Amino acid sequence: MEIPLSRPNITQAERDAVADVLNTNSLSLGPRLPEFEQVFARYCQTAQAVAVSSGTAALHASMIALGLTHGDEVITTPFSFVASANCALFAGGRPVFVDIDPQTWNIDPAGLEAARTERTRGVIPVDVFGQVADMDPISAFADRHELWLLEDACEALGATYKGRRAGGFGRAAVFGFYPNKQITTGEGGMITTNDARIAERCRSIRNQGRDSDVGWLAHARLGFNFRLSDIHCALGLAQMARLDEILAARDRVAEWYRGRLAEEERVTLQRCHPDARMSWFVMVLRLADRYDRADRDRILQRLQALGIGCSNYFSPIHLQPFYVERFGYREGDFPVTESLSARTVALPFHGNLTEAEVDRVCTEFRNQL
Ligand SMILES: *Cc1c(COP(=O)(O)O)cnc(C)c1O
Repeated sequence: MEIPLSRPNITQAERDAVADVLNTNSLSLGPRLPEFEQVFARYCQTAQAVAVSSGTAALHASMIALGLTHGDEVITTPFSFVASANCALFAGGRPVFVDIDPQTWNIDPAGLEAARTERTRGVIPVDVFGQVADMDPISAFADRHELWLLEDACEALGATYKGRRAGGFGRAAVFGFYPNKQITTGEGGMITTNDARIAERCRSIRNQGRDSDVGWLAHARLGFNFRLSDIHCALGLAQMARLDEILAARDRVAEWYRGRLAEEERVTLQRCHPDARMSWFVMVLRLADRYDRADRDRILQRLQALGIGCSNYFSPIHLQPFYVERFGYREGDFPVTESLSARTVALPFHGNLTEAEVDRVCTEFRNQL
């Protein structure tokens, strides 16, 4: 029997919510949009939220709203999904990478000062795999040099750091709702912020540069179509109504995995910062140093042959072909990221896994080590 790597948590409530919208005359820019935004902002404890068509669109709109422009630099992590660095390129800037902490797998605040130049405008910490980055020293660095901070919280809905929810750190934060995230709208994203000007600019950028009080064919600035339809927003609202239940189910599955693998000396788990609480996104393990990339790839292949969904997670951003070509990065530039990336194994993870399935995955995984 196949066990997929991830699976969205969809019930009759979501199906009904979508069907309800289809029976109205408001498929886009209707009432579900502000409703989804308000529910989301309240959950993240921010003043505002702006729904957009993907997490990548949320990053792109934020870059423009924050004023990033040609020649500007942004400090971020090479151990992430590629969009968190690409967004600087979308706006004519460039990402400057700082390697990660070998235990938490998040950007290492100790490397920030050395990466700063006179062109640095902001920092984009990523809440990797559902753990908020170490925000106190990162915010202190940003404040000291008058940089903005954009939190990439795409993997961390519901996570906390010192009691505060992901999405509330920095000038703005972004989320994504692809089907493997904690909640899904099929495709979708959100920007959260306490800055009314940023929210207003993002709303305009989302909607072809229109300002809210002018006509359909008046475009105050260069904009995009980053709108999220009411069909998507209805799905998001139904997911938000079940969020506590969705996260609790994921927590339970994560505990099953941790109970079975925490003592396994051939792997290590992501260390949770003492002040942080994870919102589990994926179940990624790091193989011990004696395994190399080829060993890891063989393990993945054998698990896949057994019908167990699995993957590596992530491939370093600086070694993606177009980064190598454009910026000349080489292997060895960010050794902590590279060493981790060569040894990661993501096992099946979603809230509907049974304990028996987790047992089977862990047994088969151990057999391949
Ligand atoms: C998923 C994700 C994104 C992008 O979200 P999409 O909705 O797929 O565009 C950005 N950053 C990180 C860290 C992500 O995991």
